[in-house]
Amino acid sequence: MHDLVILGSGPAGCSAALYAARAGFSPLVLEGMQPGGQLTQTSDIENYPGFPKAINGYDLVVAMRRQAERFGAVFQMDACTEVDFTGEIKRLKTMVAGTLECRAVILATGASARWLGLDSEKRLMGHGVSACATCDGAFFKGKEVAVNGGGDTACEDALFLSRLCAKVTLIHRRDALRASKVMADRVLSTPNIEVAWNSVVADILDPNQEKVTGVVLRDTVTGETRTLPVSALFVAIGHTPNTEFLKGALELDAHGYIVTDGTRTSVKGVFAAGDAQDPAYKQAVIAAGSGAMAALEAERYLLG
Ligand code: NDP
Repeated sequence: MHDLVILGSGPAGCSAALYAARAGFSPLVLEGMQPGGQLTQTSDIENYPGFPKAINGYDLVVAMRRQAERFGAVFQMDACTEVDFTGEIKRLKTMVAGTLECRAVILATGASARWLGLDSEKRLMGHGVSACATCDGAFFKGKEVAVNGGGDTACEDALFLSRLCAKVTLIHRRDALRASKVMADRVLSTPNIEVAWNSVVADILDPNQEKVTGVVLRDTVTGETRTLPVSALFVAIGHTPNTEFLKGALELDAHGYIVTDGTRTSVKGVFAAGDAQDPAYKQAVIAAGSGAMAALEAERYLLG
């Protein structure tokens, strides 16, 4: 029987683990399917306070984990697949440990990249289709590539790729970027980034059925299609919360985000932090802050 199990090891999970460990609860952290969370796929983070020269996402999350471990948090390579929150003792079914029992849970399972849903996208994943420019960009050094999306992730990816690739086409379905002004301005003033406005990806081409050679773009205003020759397509069209396994166990909103009051969920003893409960901000610093809040709430709960 554990006092506290934390699901997820991104900034929310790590910061919850740090606070709970320092409070003496020896939390068990199940790292999840992507240890370290989305930060591990980000290049330079310029907006996490304390790092005037920016910090690599992977380095940041590794440092957070080490800090929590120093106070007794235990991290395990495991992921929860089913929960039973009906009783005072919470039961978690996991891939490795089997069944775990605990008195309190912090859900910090984050969110995952959204995909376009094309058959060609599925077939060409790892062969020129990717949702992680930082991971896969180097494979396309000197080539022409495309990024789909108009938010901060798409802009960040386009800027990262512009330093490696000959040309980057940012494909966006509207005529204005959703990204923050600072990111949008950087993209628009980078000479080797071109924006394909009012465009969606209708198909991804691979004539020899082995790697991406181009994408078919459909103009959302005229309906016309054209082929854009590129060696890779990076999909950056937002995220879906990793909460599928929680359906029916507690309150989720229409998009699958955990409904919270502060960090309290609809079930006593179950708290939530980070992107899994945050449809609005999705920032590492906010995830870390909410992880600390969840741990403080859990501490109060455990102490009765
Ligand atoms: P966003 O939800 O902000 O943007 C998603 C983009 O994808 C939008 O431009 C949207 O278009 C487009 N889109 C969505 N669905 C489709 C589709 N089916 N086909 C084509 N285009 C589609 O997600 P992000 O991942 O960019 O950002 C998430 C959060 O993380 C934001 O709050 C962002 O600020 C933050 N972030 C911050 C960073 C930083 O500060 N360094 C870096 C990365 C992310 P439309 O605009 O028309 O809705």
